[in-house]
Amino acid sequence: MKIVMLGAPGAGKGTQAKMIAAKYGIPHISTGDIFRANLKEGTELGMKAKEYMDKGLLVPDSLTLELIMDRFKNDDCANGYVLDGFPRTIPQAEALTEALKANNDDLDYAIDVDVPDENIVRRMSGRRACLSCGATYHIVYNAPKTEGKCDACGSELVQREDDKPETVLNRLSVYHAQTQPLIDYYKGFDKLKSVDGTQDMNKVFEDIVKILEN
Ligand code: ADP
Ligand code: ADP
Ligand code: ZN
Repeated sequence: MKIVMLGAPGAGKGTQAKMIAAKYGIPHISTGDIFRANLKEGTELGMKAKEYMDKGLLVPDSLTLELIMDRFKNDDCANGYVLDGFPRTIPQAEALTEALKANNDDLDYAIDVDVPDENIVRRMSGRRACLSCGATYHIVYNAPKTEGKCDACGSELVQREDDKPETVLNRLSVYHAQTQPLIDYYKGFDKLKSVDGTQDMNKVFEDIVKILEN
């Protein structure tokens, strides 16, 4: 199963992608997580990506594509994957389509998690992340058992630098300009499915499972 998650920053792509990955035994591939892991390790890729991420801008396509094409070579991708945060531009989507086609392969679904802009800033300001294991929480909607600590690994939770309100507004406008056009791109290939992302996260997941098992 090969799935692309679409939606604004904070729509719940990562939350849903983790649930899909666990239920279907496929890897959850998040380009944002890979960039952040590189940043933490201080790699050259991480340093380059940071310049863009801090401003809420997209990392250039060439850099992103190099990274993701390399990730697809990993054995764990043999049975598919759920992509979270990639593709984010039309050239990235075209590169993915071409790469799949070269292997006589195709995507199953692009799932758009639809959440209006008004809800996004509230979602983002309450998001807390574990930089050790990648778990994500929300101080109101998905609080950890112990405040400030990761349920899964006990590490300290942090607010991502780019989740501060100023940067969130930039990321939203970048989303509308560069990523939202992917909705029509996948509609054109008859791959698009939409779910109402304003519902409780378990209900959103139920809707996704219905799509995947129809
Ligand atoms: P969110 O899940 O909140 O949408 P991500 O973790 O996916 O955020 O992305 C964080 C940042 O990483 C983005 O704002 C962007 O700078 C960079 N990034 C992640 N994926 C991509 C991509 N496919 N293309 C370009 N930049 C990306
Ligand atoms: P994305 O990957 O699209 O940027 P996340 O999955 O990280 O989004 O979710 C953004 C924030 O909103 C997180 O703090 C997460 O816990 C919370 N969240 C995710 N889904 C829901 C939902 N259905 N209702 C309320 N909060 C949610
Ligand atoms: Zn953790």
